[in-house]
Amino acid sequence: MIEVRNLVKKYGNHLAVDHLDFTLEAGRIYGFLGPNGAGKSTTMNIMTGYLGATEGEVLIDGHDILKEPEEAKKHIGYLPEQPPLYMDMTVRECLRFAAELKKIPRAKREEAVTEVEKMVRVKDVENRLIKNLSKGYRQRVGLAQAVLGFPEIIILDEPSVGLDPKQIVEIRELIRQLAKGHTVILSSHILAEVREVCDYILIISKGKLVASDTPENLEKMLGDADTIEIEVKASQALTKEILKTIPGIEQTSVKASGEEGVAAAVIREKKGEDIRENLFRTFAEKNVPLLTLQTRRVSLEDVFMELTQNETVPEAFRRKRFDTAGAETAEATAEPAAAEPEDETAAAEEQAPAAAEAVWNDTDGEGDEKNAGDL
Ligand code: ADP
Ligand code: MG
Repeated sequence: MIEVRNLVKKYGNHLAVDHLDFTLEAGRIYGFLGPNGAGKSTTMNIMTGYLGATEGEVLIDGHDILKEPEEAKKHIGYLPEQPPLYMDMTVRECLRFAAELKKIPRAKREEAVTEVEKMVRVKDVENRLIKNLSKGYRQRVGLAQAVLGFPEIIILDEPSVGLDPKQIVEIRELIRQLAKGHTVILSSHILAEVREVCDYILIISKGKLVASDTPENLEKMLGDADTIEIEVKASQALTKEILKTIPGIEQTSVKASGEEGVAAAVIREKKGEDIRENLFRTFAEKNVPLLTLQTRRVSLEDVFMELTQNETVPEAFRRKRFDTAGAETAEATAEPAAAEPEDETAAAEEQAPAAAEAVWNDTDGEGDEKNAGDL
């Protein structure tokens, strides 16, 4: 349905979109999730033919958006981040004009406009000038423009920005309705929003696709391995020493707990391991009191933070590149290690981002580069 191949957009030396590659299937609600500046709007502008790419291509139902724009654009309705509305037109005039541009046959225009006006609930303000509308209403008019003619693909860039909570609920409901007969792609920097409405999430960070899957699978990928937090009445050095003797640990980080003579450790278990009992026994054997022990499941928030804030892509995500059509496309290319992995998560996090490369242990022993840049 939509194929994005090796898409690159450079602004001067700045890579706003960095080799994006994905396929979107019909009938789903996709969420582009990423912090501000991640490249979501740029990608959407290219996908909809508003902006040329530096490299790569976008195919809409097999039609190249740049080479056959008319054919490709027929399938798309777009709500840009700043909807281009004519301030001196009334809502109805504006939508009529949009219907004309979309080549909706003259005889059907009025009916089509009325239908979307009802759908996004702007019928009661149809004779008001756009410039006199609130942000929420303008957003709805923008949305009405996008869905006018009911194109197969509806692309919405941050559809709920600037709306009040009630309007946000309404717009989400509308998106769900639309999704029944359409493919919807929306972008957001808000995780909760994407999780709530989308059945597939593409996480974009610094122009790159760092993960894509269902919300459940994204959680599972890290969530399979539980994180255990302990507090130990011992020095950090001794705690580290003891932890090294315990099998089944993927990664540890030991730091001060804030309480004198007590060290705190965060331990990531290897998949399928349960080391809690062994932790308890081993520390007891060494006569070191374990003061607290708790297990924490990884949430989608953790996944998002991990993928978009660190310079690092965790092992679980790094192993493969994702294709949203479901198939694994290629192995991530590995480059020689820049730095030896360590187990000093806490120390690393306090330093420059580059130091955070040490966060994830190298489990396959190949000394792979941990930088997201290699995905
Ligand atoms: P998002 O929508 O995810 O917030 P954008 O696609 O708007 O991100 O921007 C991606 C990056 O490209 C940002 O660093 C932004 O500053 C830069 N950028 C966007 N548009 C332009 C432009 N016209 N000229 C120069 N840089 C731009
Ligand atoms: Mg944006």
